[in-house]
Amino acid sequence: MKIVSIVGNRPQFIKAAPTSVALRERGFEEVVIHTGQHYDRELSQVFFEELGLDEPSYRLDLRTADTDLMRPAIKDRLIEEQPDWTLVYGDTNSTLAGADAAAELGIRLAHVEAGLRSGDLSMPEERNRIETDRIAQLLFCPDERSRETLVAEGVEGQAEVVGDVMADATRLFEPIARKRARVDQPAPYAVLTIHREANTEPARLRELIAALNATGWTFVFPVHPRTRKVLDENSIHTGPDVHEIEPVGYLEMLALVAGASRVVTDSGGLQKESYWLRVPCITLQPSTEWVDTVLVGANTLVDPVDPSPLGPALENAAFPADAPPLYGDGHAAERIAEALYTLQPR
Ligand code: UDP
Repeated sequence: MKIVSIVGNRPQFIKAAPTSVALRERGFEEVVIHTGQHYDRELSQVFFEELGLDEPSYRLDLRTADTDLMRPAIKDRLIEEQPDWTLVYGDTNSTLAGADAAAELGIRLAHVEAGLRSGDLSMPEERNRIETDRIAQLLFCPDERSRETLVAEGVEGQAEVVGDVMADATRLFEPIARKRARVDQPAPYAVLTIHREANTEPARLRELIAALNATGWTFVFPVHPRTRKVLDENSIHTGPDVHEIEPVGYLEMLALVAGASRVVTDSGGLQKESYWLRVPCITLQPSTEWVDTVLVGANTLVDPVDPSPLGPALENAAFPADAPPLYGDGHAAERIAEALYTLQPR
């Protein structure tokens, strides 16, 4: 059986790494299409090298997040390959473009990370999730909550709780990352990432940086290219305790988080990774799709519209001693491969 996997950005390369291994081990032929949504080396190629991913079969090199440009290019490759399944990950525009392309061609679609909802329809990611889940035949949920969400929405596809493939990646790569951990970080420090569209709007970003500067905490801040551009073009300056660095590879990021006393982020992936590495997280969003991290007390939401609670949130954050395991056991990819092999969609 043949699978076409569609990837386009940093978290998708990370999600694809354990999945590709499991697909290969289950005897699938996997063809990878890289849309080129992320094209900077530090957001793209470095992950292929570091995670041992095969070179994509197709590099569309589109350098855009516009689904109307991605979809026809993906369709051409799907027509050529005629896979048994198209596999899409997460909630980006590459996810939606791949999903729509498969649906338009009547090719079976499976969605990894299905059923997540933040409830905030102003976020493009939330709209991408809902639309992809609506048209997928197989929906791979990280937990029971997401499966129940899909049932409540009445999606037509078959929902399977398999766990989260990012937990697989953390399980596989954390030991390697810890061995490579840098020793020159200021201690103690918080890891900071900001990249969401809403948070990189210049006035918002200026306020966020001012609030972070005022906390007195030391931050290590791998700056996403989108954020770099807005900082530079608007002369927004971080304070002396905010150590800006280039975006880092996945192993270095895991090591940074593992050694941090806090994570402050608007990244979906980092909210989970900080949980699995037992570091308290502060999320710079009014809502999150990773609801249980908040419910168990490991993740605190700070609405960036008013970042003044940031200081107290940093002070008060603590990782709960009785935190339950969330989002699977680190073996989601094997279940995904097995389900693709055995399940016939209704
Ligand atoms: N990440 C990384 N290097 C960085 C920043 C993040 O490897 O400099 C990793 C992070 O550990 C996580 C993923 O990238 O696995 C998250 O990607 P991103 O924040 O771009 O997207 P999101 O998770 O919000 O979809």
